[in-house]
Amino acid sequence: MGAAPQSIRWPAPELSDSVFKMFDMHGKVVIITGGSGGIGYEVARGLAEAGADIALWYYKSTQCEKLAATIAKDFGVKVKAYQCDVSVFDQVQAQTDAVVKDFGRLDVMIANAGIPSKKGGLDDKLEDWHRVVDIDFSGAYFCARVAGEIFRKQGSGNVIFTASMSGHAANVPQEQACYNACKAGVIHLAKSLAVEWVKFARVNSVSPGYIDTAISGDCAFEMKEEWYSLTPMKRDADPRELKAAYLYLASNASTYTTGCDLVVDGGYTCR
Ligand code: NAD
Repeated sequence: MGAAPQSIRWPAPELSDSVFKMFDMHGKVVIITGGSGGIGYEVARGLAEAGADIALWYYKSTQCEKLAATIAKDFGVKVKAYQCDVSVFDQVQAQTDAVVKDFGRLDVMIANAGIPSKKGGLDDKLEDWHRVVDIDFSGAYFCARVAGEIFRKQGSGNVIFTASMSGHAANVPQEQACYNACKAGVIHLAKSLAVEWVKFARVNSVSPGYIDTAISGDCAFEMKEEWYSLTPMKRDADPRELKAAYLYLASNASTYTTGCDLVVDGGYTCR
């Protein structure tokens, strides 16, 4: 008789008996892109409250240094603002390096920055199509890739993409073919990287529904009314309603969760 086959089961991580401690983020360093407002800012506040140190990335905001100081003061953690256009790989690399230099490590990359399409599939100018792909899809990948290199070296890490319910269903009534396709791509990118990187990082996405932020805020009253009518909960969400979803994925509360898309959409995609 040959030797008994070796088990291929990997050991489980060390766990706390306290569910509250599983959500504790003390000692962890998080980058969040699109951090100067909307979902990004509220998620940054949520993770900071749980104890994480935060690198708050912004694109064009003049307020981000102030916002970083506010979070640091409110929660007693280290928070620093960094300017970065996520569609430019060299900027993503340089600012990630700066974060590791300033904070000493990186544990979680939240690729949250995004823009909507301007027009539908036939009417979008090609330059606008490319800009959405460059930010919403390539930019998200650049952030994951640069962080993934660090995570591979340190043997641990966590990537969270902000996808969208538009990655699951065509976003109506707006015509958003490029945006929808990019967000669907991001959901599948998370699943693919989750499998490729399983030895050193967890990779997940969050798919928000209609959230009351700058992206949706400029839309016409009639459009919003139609959105509400299409959402089983008949309302949009405050961005604070997303904080716990990101905290779950970023923390040790989700040690067995990878390749998951966490939908937070008031039931929109159930229809
Ligand atoms: P928002 O406009 O407040 O946030 C988008 C952020 O992306 C902004 O901070 C902006 O500065 C940043 N950004 C834009 N171009 C950039 C670039 N080239 N480089 C770096 N940053 C750039 O709106 P939000 O709702 O908070 O959006 C955050 C994410 O949530 C986006 O990816 C968006 O697609 C997604 N989302 C939003 C909703 C919604 O209804 N608000 C729904 C589903 C998904």
